[in-house]
Amino acid sequence: MSDTPIRSARVFCIANQKGGVGKTTTSINLAAALAQLGKKVLLIDLDPQGNATMGSGIDKNEATVNLYQVLIGSASIHEARLRSETGQYDVLPANREMSGAEIDLVQMAARETRLKQALASVQNEYDFVLIDCPPALSLLTLNGLASAHGVIIPMQCEYFALEGLSDLVNTIKRVYRNLNPDLVLIGLLRVMYDTRITLQQQVSAQLEAHFGDKVFQTIVPRNVRLAEAPSYGMPGVVYDKSARGAKAYFAFAQELVRRVDRMAA
Ligand code: ATP
Ligand code: MG
Repeated sequence: MSDTPIRSARVFCIANQKGGVGKTTTSINLAAALAQLGKKVLLIDLDPQGNATMGSGIDKNEATVNLYQVLIGSASIHEARLRSETGQYDVLPANREMSGAEIDLVQMAARETRLKQALASVQNEYDFVLIDCPPALSLLTLNGLASAHGVIIPMQCEYFALEGLSDLVNTIKRVYRNLNPDLVLIGLLRVMYDTRITLQQQVSAQLEAHFGDKVFQTIVPRNVRLAEAPSYGMPGVVYDKSARGAKAYFAFAQELVRRVDRMAA
């Protein structure tokens, strides 16, 4: 008899329709930090840019079987997933082929739940499935939200950040009502934070006032080591684990695990 424990993955989308707010950096570093805590992790790259794939040390152009084939139903996740050797987690890779998925999916039955169906076959192999969403409230993002138990929203504490947030929260509510009654907002993560900037402190305080304990206590600082890491195909938490940014992502992984355990209790 196998002594492999039976797992049931918690599936989280890392989403924000704004571009360049730290979704991919959060996805990669959270995946690697959770792996270092002994968790089995699958990182799904839902973005045709393929940044999460590359940042995990996998060449997106060599991933000839990728999430695109999974979404259109010509490959399984077992066939498409690859291993991030630097991060010690599995990756469902993406590349430019995925931009065609958006168009192909429109004509398919159950087009918002293709990813959810595909995930069912690997659900028991992982503790966490993290989905790095593209910067749009598109059909791809809807597939992510329809598959997830929760959403993690990374955000910069800037003036317009709050404005975009209401669109995302409304989308989450719509998906919750129409597609996925399991979906909850897990929390807002402040990233690229610079304590010297007064406006960031003000927006951060506003976030806490509005969203209360939905705001994670951990704050990820702006840290150049996190930005350098992807060019080495490494998560920041592996590239330089003593850097301030890496330490923050380790703290965030621990905070998330505590939060998830509390929610399950
Ligand atoms: P997109 O919307 O294009 O998918 P994204 O939301 O995934 O973008 P990232 O790619 O993670 O955002 O980050 C945008 C840029 O900011 C990248 O160059 C990244 O290296 C850098 N970056 C992210 N987080 C930090 C940080 N905490 N400190 C410094 N640089 C950061
Ligand atoms: Mg990204």
